[in-house]
Amino acid sequence: MDATETDILVSGGGVAGLTAACVFGAAGFSVVCVDPMPPVVERDAEGADLRTTAFLQPAQALLERAGLWQRLAPHASDLQVMRIVDAGGPRPEPRLAKDFDASDISDRPFGWNLPNWLLRREMLARLEELPTVDFRPGVGFAGLFTREGEARVRLSDGKRVHCRLVVAADGRNSPVRRAAGVSVDTARYGQKALAFAVTHPVPHENVSTEIHRSGGPFTLVPLPDYQGRPSSAIVWMEEGPEVQRLAGLPVPDFEASMTERSCGLFGPLTLASRRTVWPIISQVARSMYAERVALVAEAAHVVPPIGAQGLNMSLGDLRVLLDLAEQTPARLGDLAMLETYHRHRHAEVMARVAGIDVLNRASMVRAQPLRDARAMALDTIYSLPPVRKSLMQLGLGARG
Ligand SMILES: Cc1cc2nc3c(=O)[nH]c(=O)nc-3n(C[C@H](O)[C@H](O)[C@H](O)COP(=O)(O)OP(=O)(O)OC[C@H]3O[C@@H](n4cnc5c(N)ncnc54)[C@H](O)[C@@H]3O)c2cc1C
Repeated sequence: MDATETDILVSGGGVAGLTAACVFGAAGFSVVCVDPMPPVVERDAEGADLRTTAFLQPAQALLERAGLWQRLAPHASDLQVMRIVDAGGPRPEPRLAKDFDASDISDRPFGWNLPNWLLRREMLARLEELPTVDFRPGVGFAGLFTREGEARVRLSDGKRVHCRLVVAADGRNSPVRRAAGVSVDTARYGQKALAFAVTHPVPHENVSTEIHRSGGPFTLVPLPDYQGRPSSAIVWMEEGPEVQRLAGLPVPDFEASMTERSCGLFGPLTLASRRTVWPIISQVARSMYAERVALVAEAAHVVPPIGAQGLNMSLGDLRVLLDLAEQTPARLGDLAMLETYHRHRHAEVMARVAGIDVLNRASMVRAQPLRDARAMALDTIYSLPPVRKSLMQLGLGARG
C-alpha cells in the first residue's frame, strides 16, 4: 500500500497536539495529525474536557504565529491577579491572603483563561483553514520504524505515513514514547483532582484564587459570566478516596462542601457543569527525543495543576521546536536538531517539575505545625518585593 509522504506526523489531537498541528501547518510544513478519539467540541456533550487552560503571557506570541490567538481572544478571561490564600488554621477560614498583581511586572495580565472544549473547537476550525494539515480523527498511531533519514509510521487503520519528524503529543502514556523506547521517572501522590465550573454571587474581578488547607490546592480561575452570573473554573485537589467521595455526593451536599472549602470567599457556590476526575502525578521523560522523534507536552512531562504550568510548558516545547525547524528546514528531525531541542528544554522542564512537586507537597501537608510553617513562608516571600517579582517572572516562564 502507498504511504503518505509528509514533513511531520503529530501523534495526538489533545490540546497540545492540535496546537502543534496548527503551529507547524501555519509555518508551511506539511503535517498529518492523528488521534483515535475524535475531539469533543461542545461543553455539555459526553466526554467534553471541562478543564480550563490558563495561557500565560509567553503563549500569546506562539498562538498568534499559529493563527489561533485571533480566534481565542474573544472567549478569554483576563487573569490580572493571582491571590494565594492560606486557610491552614484549625478552622476552614482564610488567615492569610496575598495578591500577586500582574501590574507589578508588566502592563499586561498574567494570562488568559479558556475552556479546553472551546480550545478544541477553535483549533479544529483553524485546521480546516490550513491546506498543509491533514487531520485524521478516529485513527491512531500503531507502530514506528525509524532510520537516520526518516520515520515510517503505521496507523491503526493500516495506512502508512513516512515523515522526517514524529511529534509525540499523545499524552502521559504516549504510545510513540514507548515505541521509541524512552523511559520516564514518575512520582505518585495518592491525589486526584476534581475539575468543574461554578457560578457565584460575588464577582471574581479577574482574580485567580488558590486556597491552601490540606490535601492540595483549591483553585478558582475566572471564566466569562455563565447564564448571567459570575462564573469560575475550579480545580479541587484532595487524596484519591476523598475525591471519589466528593464526586459521588448529591449536588446540594457537594455545593455545601465546596462552599466551605472555598471559605465562602465568593458566596454560596452553585455547580454549573459535570464533575470530572483527573489522576495527579509528576512525570518526566529521561530524554526529550529519540531518532526522528520529538516528545512534547504530557508525553514528555506531567505536573500537578498548580500555577498553570502544564500546557504552558508544552507551548515552550513547541516554540523551541518551531524555531529550530524554521532556522534550518532542511534539517527537520535530524539528530543535530533533536539534540539541540533536548538541550534547550530538558533541564528547564526538570527544574519546573521539581518546583511544582515541592509546591504540591507543601499544599498537601496535614500536620498543624507544617501548615503554620507554610503560611510563614508565604508571608516572608511576599514581604520581599524583589523575590516576589522574580517568582512572578519565573511563573510566567522566564528562566531562573
Ligand atoms: C485538572 C487539570 C487542570 C489543568 N489546568 C491547566 C492550566 O490551567 N494551564 C495549563 O497550562 N495546564 C493545565 N493543565 C495541564 C493541561 O491540561 C495538560 O498539560 C494538557 O491538557 C495536556 O495535553 P496533552 O495534549 O499533552 O495530553 P492529552 O490531553 O492527554 O492528549 C493526548 C491525546 O493523545 C491521544 N492518543 C492516545 N493514544 C493515541 C494513539 N495511539 N495515537 C494518537 N493519539 C493518541 C489521546 O486520545 C489524547 O487526545 C491541567 C491539568 C489538569 C489535570
